[in-house]
Amino acid sequence: MGLQIENLSKQYGKTPVLKNINLHLKKGEIVGFLGPNGAGKTTLMKILTGSLNRWEGRVFFDELNLKTQLQDVQKHVGYLPENNPLYTEMYVKEYLYFIAKTYRLSNVNYPELLQKTGLTDHQNKPIKTLSKGYKQRVGFAAALIHNPPFLILDEPTTGLDPNQLIEIRKLIKTLGQEKTVFLSTHILQEVEALCDRVIILHQGQIVLDSPLKDLADQKQQIVKVTFDFRVETEALKRLPQVSRVVNTHDFDYEIYFDTPNDQRPVVFDFAHDNGLKILSLQHKIENLEKRFYALTQGK
Ligand code: ADP
Repeated sequence: MGLQIENLSKQYGKTPVLKNINLHLKKGEIVGFLGPNGAGKTTLMKILTGSLNRWEGRVFFDELNLKTQLQDVQKHVGYLPENNPLYTEMYVKEYLYFIAKTYRLSNVNYPELLQKTGLTDHQNKPIKTLSKGYKQRVGFAAALIHNPPFLILDEPTTGLDPNQLIEIRKLIKTLGQEKTVFLSTHILQEVEALCDRVIILHQGQIVLDSPLKDLADQKQQIVKVTFDFRVETEALKRLPQVSRVVNTHDFDYEIYFDTPNDQRPVVFDFAHDNGLKILSLQHKIENLEKRFYALTQGK
């Protein structure tokens, strides 16, 4: 059960773009699909959603065969394409009615759909007047309209500002509690923030498939923090288990801790005790970054 991909290959003309992909996504997993531009991510996503044919191999969504039961598969899969194409002249609710009509869906629970995607207060607005983050929510609502158990998201946060990014990640995380989510991105932090598992594609081949927790450095972590004011690096160095502090930019610091336990609360307390505000706080998994570049460098 879940999504099963077996020996999937695809060529554009004579050029191989996907080479013998084998993957199994379990139910309820959020899987991050990383790779440099041109690796083949979009091609795979298009195949999985039935918008590309002429490929080799076998794909099953639960027991449904993508090649022979495409229409049934599409009832089980929601797809948010890259760049989220929308009819922006339409009103939010009108657009969702339109999508439902296109899919011949008669029993859509609109209040629930709007609530889930945070659009309740925006349903009567023209899409073109919405911010990029809210336009993205409309794309999510369209992808979720038939309440599919599988969700395929192609670079769902590209172009969002930091606040919108946080909101959309929250939405994906919530959706991931009840759905199998396969999301492509070229942002390592996205995977770190959202995913249970990471897959790296490079030149059409899977070069890494690993639970995220296995990639975490067992000994060291880096907390990246931006304060609203300059801080003495010596003061940060006095925090427990700190081995190194780098002031990377004005008020930006990288703090290296010799412990695998999340030290963000320690930094938070430090800021509080010193009357500082935290403008951003990240927990960096050094190994994912290292592995990604090692596996895809210079290509
Ligand atoms: P990614 O999403 O990882 O950036 P793509 O799947 O978009 O990668 O592209 C993989 C490769 O296939 C690239 O080299 C791209 O140029 C090529 N490609 C994509 N679409 C087509 C197409 N319609 N015809 C020919 N080549 C294509």
